[in-house]
Amino acid sequence: MMIREELCVGCGRCQPYCPTVAIRYDGLKSIIDQDICYECSTCLRAAHCPVDAICESPNVFDHPRDLRRHFSDPASRHVATGIEGRGTEETKSGDVTRRLPPGKVGIAIEVGRPNLGMSLRDVQKITRAIARAGIHKIEPCNPIHSMLADEATGDLKPELLGERVLSAIIEIEMEKGQIRSILKTLKEVAREVDSVFCIDCFMVVEPGIEIPGDVLEEIRAEGLSWRPNAKINMGLGRAWE
Ligand code: SF4
Ligand code: SF4
Repeated sequence: MMIREELCVGCGRCQPYCPTVAIRYDGLKSIIDQDICYECSTCLRAAHCPVDAICESPNVFDHPRDLRRHFSDPASRHVATGIEGRGTEETKSGDVTRRLPPGKVGIAIEVGRPNLGMSLRDVQKITRAIARAGIHKIEPCNPIHSMLADEATGDLKPELLGERVLSAIIEIEMEKGQIRSILKTLKEVAREVDSVFCIDCFMVVEPGIEIPGDVLEEIRAEGLSWRPNAKINMGLGRAWE
């Protein structure tokens, strides 16, 4: 996003709308710091600039800057997956998408929050840590998958590392026996990540089983607390054969 200097009257109205404090005064006019702006479009949608000085940057859809918009503007359709928001339906939709078979565990790592944002370098810290822990496959329907240069190491394509986004989700699938080591890995890498993240743990609950107690025990054993969340298949999904 940018502000047309010749139009801006310096009223400051747009500045509080930016969740990441990218808009500031430069003399008597407002400017947008292009390094910090993650192209969420909030200022354009909400600030109602009295002189229409806020406008799209001409390079907003140039790659790799286009990733900022795709990961940060909920009205933007992600170019890699065709899905709005962060570009993934997440493993939690597994009863419909069949992305997560019964017996497997899905982990989604949700990195970044609006006022913090995050660098894609922080995503790489996590994908590298996951690879070191033995998980070499990021969910293929997740946009992070298309950003990898090397699945074996978790390296992202180097040209992407300077980009900054509001939030991203990394999704992986594993056997139950791998949960503990992945949680340990994520706790360790959390010290290096210059943002926040939460961890979602998904399973298809089979008939007759109320709570997957063995999985919860692994989570507790790592000193982590959990909050239950369920989607009940009311016939919209497809039964596993
Ligand atoms: S709202 Fe418009 S005129 Fe006011 S500071 Fe922002 S860009 Fe300038
Ligand atoms: S597009 Fe979003 S991040 Fe960029 S200046 Fe506007 S509100 Fe801030």
